[in-house]
Amino acid sequence: MADPRGFLKFERKGATRRPPELRIHDWKEVYLPTSDVLITTQAARCMDCGIPFCHQGCPLGNLIPEWNNLTYLNEWKDSIDRLHATNNFPEFTGRLCPAPCETACVLGISDDPVSIKLIEQETIEHAFARNLVKPVHPTKKSNKRVAVVGSGPSGLAAAQQLTRAGHDVVVYEKSDRVGGLLRYGIPEFKMEKAILDRRLKQMSDEGTVFVTNTEIGRDITIDELKGNFDAVILALGSETPRDLKVGGRQLSGIYQAMEFLPLANRVQEGDFETPAISAEGKKVVIIGGGDTGADCLGTSHRQGAKSVMQIEIMPRPSDERPSNAPWPLYPMLYRVSSAHEEGGVRDYAINTEEFIGDEDGNVVGIKAHRIELKPTDKGMAFEKIEGSDFIIEADMVLFAMGFVGTPLQGHLEEAGIKFTPRGSVATNNDWMTERDGVFAAGDLRRGQSLIVWAIAEGRSVAQSVDRYLMGASDLPGPISTNSYALSL
Ligand SMILES: Cc1cc2nc3c(=O)[nH]c(=O)nc-3n(C[C@H](O)[C@H](O)[C@H](O)COP(=O)(O)OP(=O)(O)OC[C@H]3O[C@@H](n4cnc5c(N)ncnc54)[C@H](O)[C@@H]3O)c2cc1C
Ligand code: SF4
Repeated sequence: MADPRGFLKFERKGATRRPPELRIHDWKEVYLPTSDVLITTQAARCMDCGIPFCHQGCPLGNLIPEWNNLTYLNEWKDSIDRLHATNNFPEFTGRLCPAPCETACVLGISDDPVSIKLIEQETIEHAFARNLVKPVHPTKKSNKRVAVVGSGPSGLAAAQQLTRAGHDVVVYEKSDRVGGLLRYGIPEFKMEKAILDRRLKQMSDEGTVFVTNTEIGRDITIDELKGNFDAVILALGSETPRDLKVGGRQLSGIYQAMEFLPLANRVQEGDFETPAISAEGKKVVIIGGGDTGADCLGTSHRQGAKSVMQIEIMPRPSDERPSNAPWPLYPMLYRVSSAHEEGGVRDYAINTEEFIGDEDGNVVGIKAHRIELKPTDKGMAFEKIEGSDFIIEADMVLFAMGFVGTPLQGHLEEAGIKFTPRGSVATNNDWMTERDGVFAAGDLRRGQSLIVWAIAEGRSVAQSVDRYLMGASDLPGPISTNSYALSL
């Protein structure tokens, strides 16, 4: 145990964000470097509980008290080894995970929980700084070939595990760069792309082959992949965005978040200086109150939007843990992300009735009204609050309302792969689809989710594929099917 009295001596502290008025003028990550003293004192707060509920809170089953202790002792090599034992990419989760481990932390029952996510990020950053993250080569080659389709966190985790197990792994990506939503969804100010490239270099050095600009279903069929590889993993994500088909949807100036965010990320990659869709000088309204909406908010501010409003159909979450999500469950809370600190207005329980356009076909506003959730025979339903109609001025509208499946569903079904009624690929308990030797993982399989789940799925599918190819596997498998974070 790090320090038996640490949780009594030290208060919870997180990383310091740069002042909003400064950081909205650049695209660098919002956090300042953290001092070693802060990390050690925060790690010292871990109580090394007899039953570490944080393990269960983390979908990867991260061995949190163990690396907390090793980080506290500045044993960086052992600490990163324990962290890497369950998580291929702690530098992604340390920056981007909503940390369901922290809402399951035992200290959180009576005090503020341990800053687990911060310690995770600092542990991996210290490891990179000390050159402790090196390529890991297999002890034996299997002569088996695996194709991974999609290079988001689930495909990358699966590919790394299987390459290290001795298989020849090729990752196919339809985009021009590797990384999935880590590359073109998540803005630079949440994770600089150099962080991703650093890990991809390790993977290439280990022997994983990346083939970009190659779309499965168009350039290569599933049948061709099946013919050329011993196993295929589909990790295509859930790319089809939810739409809002109300009057005026066809007006110019209305975009999906994933039409807008990738262009901003491409500017940071150096592809061009001015994005074809920009919030500069615009009155922006973002429909959707989640993380994607917050990414649109931070991006709009950095592009110089005149004003930004984020509206959400659901009621405002509470500030305190609600009674229907007691510890150690992950509660829906009113959260203030770094993008929210930077400005803009958030409003809740608002329904969009139609978009208003000018004579040139450009959006100029939204006709909206307030709603309330009312119990009905069929459960809770939205009901309009009569007389609450109002207009929101907008010359740019961004949809951030979630994702509902893959555009490749038709091709996959023709190839004998079945889908659930919710538009996700159906698999058995071994992550195998209806088609022998074709597996699925990540958002494609579980529906739109989180990076931590994508990595967990990638690790799990890798074990199943290894067992399918070799009859048995030494790779770690799923550990968190009962995670408190299941509902995320
Ligand atoms: C804007 C945004 C912000 C987010 N922020 C966070 C966050 O802060 N924290 C968090 O935990 N989660 C966040 N998420 C969710 C998280 O990014 C996803 O859950 C995660 O990336 C899913 O990983 P994946 O590997 O399953 O799919 P993806 O990351 O979507 O990767 C799938 C890849 O497959 C490729 N592909 C698709 N079809 C084909 C094809 N036919 N042929 C070849 N390649 C193909 C795609 O181009 C893509 O690169 C965010 C999501 C969005 C949209
Ligand atoms: S991956 Fe997420 S849930 Fe797991 S330890 Fe890290 S921050 Fe917590």
